[in-house]
Amino acid sequence: MDSATVVQQLRSAYHSGKTRSVEYREKQLRNLLQLYEENHEEMARVLEIDLRKHKQEAYILEIDFLINDLRNIIFNFREWVKPEQPGKAMLNMMDKVFIYKDPYGVILVIGAWNYPLQVTLAPVAAAIAAGNCVLIKPSEVAPATSRFIAETIPKYLDQDCYRVVEGGVKETSELLQQKFDYIFFTGSGKVGRIVHQACNTNLTPCTLELGGKSPCFIDSTTDISIATKRILWGKFINAGQTCIAPDYILCSKAVQEQILEEARSILIEWYGEDPKNSPDLCRIINQGHFERLRRMIEGANVAIGGDIDSEEKYISPTILIDVEPEDAIMQDEIFGPILPIVNVEESHDAIEFINSRAPALVLYIFTQDKDLQEVFIHTTTSGGICLNDTILQFNVESLPFGGVGPSGMGAYHGKYGFDSFTHKKSCLMKDFNALGEKLASSRYPPYSDSKISFLATMMKKRQGFSVKFLPYLFMFVIGVGFALIGKNIMDAYY
Ligand code: NAD
Repeated sequence: MDSATVVQQLRSAYHSGKTRSVEYREKQLRNLLQLYEENHEEMARVLEIDLRKHKQEAYILEIDFLINDLRNIIFNFREWVKPEQPGKAMLNMMDKVFIYKDPYGVILVIGAWNYPLQVTLAPVAAAIAAGNCVLIKPSEVAPATSRFIAETIPKYLDQDCYRVVEGGVKETSELLQQKFDYIFFTGSGKVGRIVHQACNTNLTPCTLELGGKSPCFIDSTTDISIATKRILWGKFINAGQTCIAPDYILCSKAVQEQILEEARSILIEWYGEDPKNSPDLCRIINQGHFERLRRMIEGANVAIGGDIDSEEKYISPTILIDVEPEDAIMQDEIFGPILPIVNVEESHDAIEFINSRAPALVLYIFTQDKDLQEVFIHTTTSGGICLNDTILQFNVESLPFGGVGPSGMGAYHGKYGFDSFTHKKSCLMKDFNALGEKLASSRYPPYSDSKISFLATMMKKRQGFSVKFLPYLFMFVIGVGFALIGKNIMDAYY
C-alpha cells in the first residue's frame, strides 16, 4: 500500500473520533504495555542481533525505560487530558476560560537505529495518550528491530489508528511528501534539516531530537576515580553510539593524567585484558560507520585502546590525547567508542570553548565547587546539563528531554511528551448575563477617555493574585451589583 493511502486511512480513522475517547486511549496504552511484557525477551534478542547489545544495556536503557515511561503515562494521562482553567482578568470575571487538550491528528514518528526500540516507541506512547493516530517509521539501519516493530505493533494496537511503514531514505522521503499534523523525528542534524524543510511545506509542527557533541568538563576538585567510571560508562555503553554520550573531555593536563591512570584499571576490571572478548561491548552498527570511526583513530595519539577488527566491526574503548580543537574528530559528533581529551587549564577556558561551539544536547560538568556549578549552569546553553554524572538525567521522567538549536527542538519524556503531541486549544465561554454585559459594554462606541481607562483597569491580568485580595474583589462585585440595582430603581422612578 502506498504511503498516501496509509495516511489517508489514518486520517479517516482520526476523523471518526475514536481516539478522542480516553477509555480507548487507555486500552491502546495497556495493549502496548502488554506488548512489552509479553515480548521483552524478543526485544532484547533483536537488539543483540542489530547491535550485539548486552541484555543489561537492552533492559536498562531501552526495555525497562519504555515500560516505566508507559506506566507513568497510563497512571497520569487522564489528569493531563483534563482541561485547565487558567487565571483571567476582571473583565472576564463572569466568563469561563478553558484550555482544552486537543490531539493534533495524524502523527509521523521517525526513529533512529542506536536505541531503536526506545527512541521509536517512547514517542508513540505519548502520541497515543494525547489522542492521535500514529504512523511509525523505524530505522532500516537496525533491521531486526524494525521488523520486530512492524510485526508486533499490528498484533497489539488498533490497525485503524496505528500503523508501521518500514524502509529507508526512499520510503521516508515519500512519507515526508504527505501531509501530517505533527512530525516527531529522531536522528542526525543532516536529516533533521530535510525533515524540517518538509514540515515547512505544510507548516507542520515538529519535534527534532538530534545529536551533536556533548562536552564533559572535569576539574581537580572532583573524585576522579568515581568521575572516570561515570564518564567511561556513559561513553562506552552502546559502543559510544549514544546521542547523549559525553563526546569529549575538557580538562587540565594534570587531571588528564589522573583520568588515564584510573581509566586503565577500570577498563581492565570491566572488560578484561582484551575487551574484544567481553560480551558487554556492543559492535559498530555497520561498515560505513566503522570506517568513519577507524579514520578518526588513524594518526591520532592513542593513550588507551585503539584496537580494531573490521570483520567484527569492533573498536576497543579508546582514549585520545593531544587533541586540538581544529582536529577532524572535534568537528562532528563522534558516535563511537572514542573519547578525545582536549586540554584547558581553567574552568573559564572551558566555558569559552563550550560557548564558541554549537549548543550541545547535554553538558556534563564534574566539579564539587558549588559556585562553579552555578557559573556553568548560568553562562552556557545546552538541551540539558548534568552535574557529576552522565546519561542518568535521561531517566528522570520529570525532566524534559530534548536539544536546543542544532541539537534539536522540542522535548519529550513523561508529561513533556504528552504536551508535545497536544494542541492547547483556548476557549472563552461567555453567556448573556446582565452584569457581564455591563462590565464589557465600555468597549462599544462612542469611545471616550473614561472608557479607555476603565477598560485598561478591567483588562489587567490578576498578576500574582493572592487570596488576601478576595474580600476586596467581593466588595467590588457587591458594589457594582448595588450600583446596578440602584440605577434600575432610579430608571424605574425617573
Ligand atoms: P539518521 O538521521 O541517519 O536517520 C534517522 C531516520 O531518518 C531513519 O529512520 C532514516 O531512515 C531516516 N532518513 C535517513 N536519511 C534520510 C533522508 N535523506 N531523507 C529522509 N529520511 C531519512 O540518524 P541515525 O543514523 O539513525 O541516528 C544517529 C543520529 O541520531 C545521531 O546524530 C544521534 O545523536 C541522533 N540521535 C538523537 C537522539 C535524541 O534523542 N536526541 C536519539 C538517538 C539518536
